[in-house]
This record gives sequence, C-alpha cells and structure tokens, in this order.
Amino acid sequence: MSKRDYYEILGVSKNSDKAEIKKAYRKIAVKYHPDKNPGDKEAEEKFKEAAEAYEVLSNDDKRAKYDRFGHSAFDGASGFGDGGGMSMDDIFSHFGDIFGGFGFGGFGGSSSAGRRQRVNKGTNLRIKVKLSLKDILNGTTKKIKVKKYLACSHCGGTGAENSEVDTCQTCHGSGQVIRVQNTFLGQMQTSSTCPSCHGQGTVIKKKCSYCHGEGVIQGEEIVKVNVPSGVAEGMQMKIAGKGNAARRGGVNGDLIVIFEEEEHPELIRDENDLLYNLFISFPEAALGTSVEVPTIESNVKIKIQPGIQSGKILRLRGKGLPSYGSYGKGDILVKVNVWVPKNLDKDEKRILEKLSASPNFTPKPEADEKSFFDKVKDMF
Ligand SMILES: [Zn+2]
Ligand SMILES: [Zn+2]
Repeated sequence: MSKRDYYEILGVSKNSDKAEIKKAYRKIAVKYHPDKNPGDKEAEEKFKEAAEAYEVLSNDDKRAKYDRFGHSAFDGASGFGDGGGMSMDDIFSHFGDIFGGFGFGGFGGSSSAGRRQRVNKGTNLRIKVKLSLKDILNGTTKKIKVKKYLACSHCGGTGAENSEVDTCQTCHGSGQVIRVQNTFLGQMQTSSTCPSCHGQGTVIKKKCSYCHGEGVIQGEEIVKVNVPSGVAEGMQMKIAGKGNAARRGGVNGDLIVIFEEEEHPELIRDENDLLYNLFISFPEAALGTSVEVPTIESNVKIKIQPGIQSGKILRLRGKGLPSYGSYGKGDILVKVNVWVPKNLDKDEKRILEKLSASPNFTPKPEADEKSFFDKVKDMF
C-alpha cells in the first residue's frame, strides 16, 4: 500500500509556507466535504487524505519529521495514527481554525450534526416562508412560529437536576476515548468521541425531572425573518442559532428559511419582469381607449392608441421586481389581446358585414407587426 506524498495531496510545493498550505487544504476540504458529497466514498477518502496531509504539514515538528523520513516517520507507535485511523471528529475539530465563521449549514446537510458531536450543536431546522410579490418588491419582516427543541428552563439546558454532574468515568473528563490497535502497519492510535458522555466529559448525577435529562424540551419560538427585497422562489436564508437547541447545552442549530412565492392572480413573474395579459374589445382597439392595468402595488391607467394590434407588447418600465443584491427593477410587460366576439346578434352581424366591405378593414400589416409573433413566442 503506497501512500501519496502529502505535498502532492495538497498540491503545494515543498517550500510553501503555512498560509499556502492552509489555503490549499481549505479548498480541498470544501470540495470533498461529506456534506457536499453524501455517500461518496471516494470524496470521503480524499477528504480524509487531505486532512491527514494538513495535520502533518501544518505542524512544524511533524513537517520536519516528514521532510526527513517521509511517511515512515509516523509508522508504529508514534502517537499519530495512519490516515485511515483519523476520525471524522478529529478532522472536524480543526475546522474552527481553518474556516473561522464559515458555516457548512448552507450545503443543506444536517447529516454532519451527529458527526460533529464534540461541538455539540443542535440540528438545523428548515422552514418554508410564503411571500407575495409585494413582499418581494419591498422586502418585509415575517414573524414565524417555529416548533423546535428549546433549552430546558428548569435545568438551564444541562439535563441535570440541581446542576449536579460527575466526571465521566469512561473518558475521565476528556470527552475522548483513545483506542490502540495493532495492524500490519504497526500500532495505531485513534481517538473518538466518548460513547458514555457523548464528548461532554461529564455525566449527570440525577436527571432533570422536567426534561428527563435531555436538556431540551419541545416548544416553539416566534422567529423574526427579515426578508430582503428581490428574493425569488427557492432561495434560502440561514438564521444562525435559531434551529434546535443542543442536547445538554451547546450551540443552537441554525434555521434555514426557504422562500416560496405566492402566485399573483393576474401577474406572471418572469425573472424580474412581470407579464400581464390585457384583453380589449375590437372597437377599443380600433378607436383607442384607456385601460387599468394591475401592478404589484396598485392599478395604473395606460393609454391604448387607436389601431393597436393584437399581440402588441406594452412596457411599463421599472414596475417589475428588483433583483436581490443589485440595482434596478424589471418591467411589467402588457400583452394586448384583441377580443373577437363569439356571439353576434342580427344587427351586429349586419353592421360588421357592412364594415368588412370597407377597404380600411382589409388587413395590411406593417413589417414590425408581422414580426410580433416571434416576440410573443419568447415571452409567453
Ligand atoms: Zn431540564
Ligand atoms: Zn466520557
């Protein structure tokens, strides 16, 4: 079994400095993060391999040893396990240093919550929030009732009655258990989260009578969601710390808000533009008229020029939606449809028959009127 060179794994040169190594590792860790590659064994291996390389190259002492002796520097009982023995907990433990405030919640994985027990973070919650076009136009604040786990108020989230805890006997308070294995590569030492205390280092003397030692109770919280203007269906927003409370103290999970758009009764959204189907009668089209057209906030009056053709698109500039994070607004596009009557009485028929003989009623489309079909096809 040959191991790849640590420098090669991270794609850095032998004389690269710590910052370069950190940067290279960070890039690989983001790419192969299990949250982004669920169930992908190869990605997981690459992720672990990079973590191991970083573990060595980011440490002056270990790096010096590696430079002198290569992989054999860490064979046997060196106190440092083979890459395969590096647990996910170990890998995630140096993420705080690597990523700072960088959150993985955005990748939509709650699967890692259990793995990162040492941080003891509550799970993320996802809720859908419905928005009207008006909400999207102006931005809004929504108060949403979220059902979730809250820290138990009786024990302050510790899970212990009267806050009494004992040091965990399994791990003697470290929260970690070390396992030494004999393998064909030599002795390997791996550490993992203590199964007795789940990494807390303490066990409860007497369970809280209120939450039965869980430290959390089911409840609900009103969460204020500040919706920025210009969001669109499916966009997500993370509200840090508004997810589930962690078992027995720790950090709250996050709340992931997913925006949904309510259908407008008359306006159809097309990115930042809004489309409106206007129907006018044949005499209105021939004589011209003024009509009311809905916008998001109120109706506006628009003038219809005499002789307007069916299919003509009128543009109400700036009456559409803003896009999130940029300037300007879309338009409202009004498609003119000339309504042809389907039922005519005798008198009406007679008038129309008389009119149809007039040369003014013979279609004489101009060039730009002939091309409207292509425009309409694009838009509807
Ligand atoms: Zn309690
Ligand atoms: Zn323990």
